[in-house]
This record gives sequence, structure tokens and C-alpha cells, in this order.
Amino acid sequence: MKEKILLHTCCAPDATHSINVLRERNFFVITFFYNPNIHPEEEYIKRKNEMEKIKKFMEVENIDDVTYDKDRWHQICDIYANEKEGGKRCELCFRMRIEETAKKAKEKNINYIATTLTISPHKNAELINKIGDEIGKKYSINYLPTNFKKQDGFKKSIELSKKFGLYRQNYCGCIYSLNMRKLK
Ligand code: SF4
Repeated sequence: MKEKILLHTCCAPDATHSINVLRERNFFVITFFYNPNIHPEEEYIKRKNEMEKIKKFMEVENIDDVTYDKDRWHQICDIYANEKEGGKRCELCFRMRIEETAKKAKEKNINYIATTLTISPHKNAELINKIGDEIGKKYSINYLPTNFKKQDGFKKSIELSKKFGLYRQNYCGCIYSLNMRKLK
């Protein structure tokens, strides 16, 4: 029987290629949409709803029975509101989302977790994997280190997103990344 893996999924486009990679590694993939970082709420709903297309086109189970925990996200991350993308705020944001994935996996008796965050060319896979490893140890769960952007992974995710007609956002997610995008 295939081993189940709970894949923290930051958005539908990033899920596409990541699911394929994990399937090639013989995992039974279940996606988990937990992203209270996303601002504003309409954008959160839009990205969450795009997961319906992933369920349909990639025939995957998706868990999204979570509250839009934006107040808790701000409590944790606002301390570094002025940091650039990729800085200390992102470390806290990664940690919060991966930690929730570990808790959900424990609840569902799933032994492995991973995250789609490593597919982004703007994100440091080494740092994400270090955080994931710490969380894995804390919750006695197997965190699978990945670097989904390797071997043209990001490019492949763009191609699959086009094929499935997925919405692709042009900013990472939080209000600070949105403000930075507006300045460009
Ligand atoms: S830029 Fe992205 S990863 Fe960093 S804090 Fe904002 S939403 Fe999280």
C-alpha cells in the first residue's frame, strides 16, 4: 500500500507539479490548504476555490476544513512587517503553515508531510526544509525535504496551470507582499 503524505499547498498552481513529483515517488498525496497569510479575504477565497480544479483534474483529495486564521497570522508575523520578502517574516509564516500541516497529519494518522512552498523560485528551499525538519522532530512525524523547483519544476507548474486554466496570482500572499507589488 502506498504511504500517505499530507502536502501543505500554498496555491493550486504550485500544487500541480508538486503532486506529480510525489506520485512519482510512490506517495498517495492528500493536499492541505492552510494559508491564513493571504490578504485580502476575497483573494483567500479565490485561491482556496481554485483547489476544486486540482481535485477534479488531478484526482486528489483536498483538506481545507480550516478557519481563515488571519488574526493569528498577524499576531505571529507583524513583528517583521517591514522585512523584505524572503526575510524573517517569511520564516515565521513558513513555520506557522508547516506546523499546522503537522498537526492535521497527526489528527488524520498520516505519517508524512511536505510543502509546495519549495517550488517557488523566490523561496529558499534549504530554509523551508530546515524548518520542516524541526517541526517533524517536534511532532514525531516524517517531514519530506523537497526542492520542487528543480528540473524545471516551476516551469512545469506554469504549463500545467495553463492546461487546467488555473488562476495565478502575481504576489506571494500577505498584505506586505501585496503592498510591495503595488510599488513596482
Ligand atoms: S511574503 Fe509570502 S511567505 Fe513571506 S510572509 Fe508574506 S505571504 Fe508569507
